[in-house]
Amino acid sequence: MQRQSFSPPSTDVVIVGGGPAGAAAALMLARSDISVVLLDGGQQRLAVGETLPPAVRPVLDSLGVRAQLTDEGHCASVGSWSAWGSAEPWGRDFIFNRFGHGWHLDRRRFDALLRAAARSAGARLAHASLVASEPLPAGGFRLHLAGGRHLDARIVLDASGRSAVFARQRGVRRIAVDRMVALVGYVARRPDAGAEPAASLVEATSAGWWYSAPLPQDRLIVAFMTDADLARGGGDLTDGWLDRLAGAQHTAARALRFGAGLAGPPVIVSAVSGRLERFGGADWLALGDAAATQDPLSSEGILLAMQSGIDGALAARQALHGESDALAGAAKRREAVWFNYLDERDRNYAAERRWPKAPFWQRRSPEPAQGSRHIHRTQEQRSSA
Ligand SMILES: Cc1cc2nc3c(=O)[nH]c(=O)nc-3n(C[C@H](O)[C@H](O)[C@H](O)COP(=O)(O)OP(=O)(O)OC[C@H]3O[C@@H](n4cnc5c(N)ncnc54)[C@H](O)[C@@H]3O)c2cc1C
Repeated sequence: MQRQSFSPPSTDVVIVGGGPAGAAAALMLARSDISVVLLDGGQQRLAVGETLPPAVRPVLDSLGVRAQLTDEGHCASVGSWSAWGSAEPWGRDFIFNRFGHGWHLDRRRFDALLRAAARSAGARLAHASLVASEPLPAGGFRLHLAGGRHLDARIVLDASGRSAVFARQRGVRRIAVDRMVALVGYVARRPDAGAEPAASLVEATSAGWWYSAPLPQDRLIVAFMTDADLARGGGDLTDGWLDRLAGAQHTAARALRFGAGLAGPPVIVSAVSGRLERFGGADWLALGDAAATQDPLSSEGILLAMQSGIDGALAARQALHGESDALAGAAKRREAVWFNYLDERDRNYAAERRWPKAPFWQRRSPEPAQGSRHIHRTQEQRSSA
């Protein structure tokens, strides 16, 4: 992110986190002539999440970045296939989708594109980490940044991803629905490899599920989603990853066709589904992954993050214009999205019944006694006890 200076004392809106949620919010606020600072400390070391579904197009259009996306060399995604509920893959070709194709992204470039669009619209970007915050007596917050500087804001939007750093500083806890992790590997293309279908593939196995997709710069992402306690399978991470891959016939065949081996050891990242106990409060609102994270099976995290950024920007603008319940309204809309997601998650996992006794699938059983609503409620009760 380009360094820019910014000067206290007070900014209308400070956004913590320059991922898709924060950048989308900054862009929309700057367009409305609201003073906005977008802080990002570069905490995101491995930006996973590359597939944009076709339905993202209207959102990219409203942000005004769709043309650049095509120019910048992100790959078209022409369909999605899954061996889920049966060993044979079935799929959807986006040729019949009313929006057209989706994309497989170079995430760093995509996030940088959104931040550049926000800057062009008038947002100030600051390469800085939020380390502490406190409410101000007349409303708004003082934000303390690494290096000893501070910044005052009338409204804070927390778009800091899974760390939800500002919300946690407000004492709001996160409620986890599962313990999912992703073991992410990248395979580099063999010079003699044939053309690889530009589609994502999901494949269920007894201990979790695999996701693969071709990416820009001749790479194939191959990621295994499982629970943290099941991840290593008792051995070394790379060996465990390779052993597990051997049990996923379609994904293993794809990886072998594409490349000679892993470009580096697999990296383990959190893929937990969870949410904040509440999505906002007086003069603040959480956006994107800071508010709630979804199972990567949905491939909707980036889309939702941008949508929540746009909605959060609208609510912040209304609040600055005196609508006292605007931020609470946005928090309520986020709540509805979360409950729809839980229903969809139950439906998706119910469609795979081949390993009813395997812990990974048992934990996701939508039976009334174990479904995610029940888990959610139990944990909510626990955390508020
Ligand atoms: C394994 C996996 C696969 C996924 N696959 C997909 C997919 O295929 N498609 C899809 O749409 N989604 C996918 N997702 C989800 C998607 O990546 C996220 O939903 C999306 O990145 C959320 O965007 P965000 O802006 O809310 O947060 P983030 O992208 O996490 O951005 C948060 C930003 O906040 C900054 N930050 C953090 N702390 C501070 C601080 N203290 N001060 C200042 N800045 C800070 C970070 O540097 C970062 O830039 C996947 C997720 C996982 C885990």
